[in-house]
Amino acid sequence: MIPIHEALQQVLKQRSTYGTEKISLLEAKGRFLAEDIFTDRDAPPFDRVMMDGIAIQHKDLDEPPAASYKVQGIQAAGSPQLSLQEETYCLEIMTGAILPHQADTIIPYEEVEIKEGRAYIQAAKLAKRFIHYKGSDSKKGELILSKGKKITAADIGLLATVGKSTVSVAKLPKVAIISTGDELVEVDQEPQAHQIRKSNAYTLWAGLMEEGITGKLYHINDDKEALRQSLAALLEEFDVLLLSGGVSKGKFDHIPEILHELGVKKIFHRVAQRPGKPFWFGAHQSLNTKVFAYPGNPVSTYVNHFYYFQQWLYASLGKDMALSRVELAQSIPSNPALALFVSVRLDPKSGAAKALNHNGSGDLFSLAQTEGFVLLPARGTDYMPGEKVDFLALK
Ligand code: AMP
Ligand code: MG
Repeated sequence: MIPIHEALQQVLKQRSTYGTEKISLLEAKGRFLAEDIFTDRDAPPFDRVMMDGIAIQHKDLDEPPAASYKVQGIQAAGSPQLSLQEETYCLEIMTGAILPHQADTIIPYEEVEIKEGRAYIQAAKLAKRFIHYKGSDSKKGELILSKGKKITAADIGLLATVGKSTVSVAKLPKVAIISTGDELVEVDQEPQAHQIRKSNAYTLWAGLMEEGITGKLYHINDDKEALRQSLAALLEEFDVLLLSGGVSKGKFDHIPEILHELGVKKIFHRVAQRPGKPFWFGAHQSLNTKVFAYPGNPVSTYVNHFYYFQQWLYASLGKDMALSRVELAQSIPSNPALALFVSVRLDPKSGAAKALNHNGSGDLFSLAQTEGFVLLPARGTDYMPGEKVDFLALK
């Protein structure tokens, strides 16, 4: 058994790189950029009109030079730039249009009356209003998104505006999700009295989806030969195996023995933590396959996956996953030998974490009430209200 910080270090040491790939902008949300992104033009790319109204030449005087202007025509958004032909002419103009030559001020329709081809300005108005000047947001060639950033929906808009219909991102590992256990049946099956529906595989599948990975689902019964055959093939085919169940001390927990037989090097088995102590982690050196074998209790699988695999994945994709910190709302008994993942809710006002009651690591239903887990390192003295600790927000 090793302490939790050592286990995490060992996991992070096994980070891999999977190269980069070019993908369509439409698939890029949630992926990690593998290139720096620069603006290809000034933003805005021209003096952009910000209101519907008329464009005049104001010349920075205290008031517009004339009380009324002849309407020369219309400058619509998406039309090439027009020119004011005379100082006493105006152009009707629309939001998003390019400012006409000679024009320097927009008077919105609300402040103008147009009658028989002339625009009457209803009040003395300041010059230079309602123009979003070329290059005022950013200049051509500026760095706007850096390599390693996780692409958000807002970033997708930025990428679109600078003309990136394809984008280079970190390639993702191929992941197999393998549930084990003779008691498990499929979600759409009616379990018999001694059976349960499998849930871990779907939690893991959904967790991977959040990172853009489409995991492949497998199930293997607690049978040595079946495990041997299936795992041998899966080790070859995938970069990562996520197993749940079969790593504790039961008579049918064969996973560690079979992985050993198949040449997967054990890096550690059992971590000084609760829940999730029987976690087994290893790697097949020549195939470069990483194996995260979680104990099957749903809360154990959950915390181990979102603590260890998630940080391993981010490290492999070139990014640190900084855990957020929260304050404790109450005292919590510590354990001198085990780090504790404690299920909490956050106070809506103060944000402080309150521990939740639950029935241990098999209590999947407790996850419905939880907002996340605080991680309390092993120590002899209890945790006190106001202490700041790591927080693993529920995914
Ligand atoms: P194990 O780690 O195989 O000893 O399993 C521990 C507990 O977790 C047992 O009660 C199992 O039935 C349960 N369990 C194992 N795998 C799953 C799964 N995929 N979904 C839900 N519960 C599971
Ligand atoms: Mg089992």
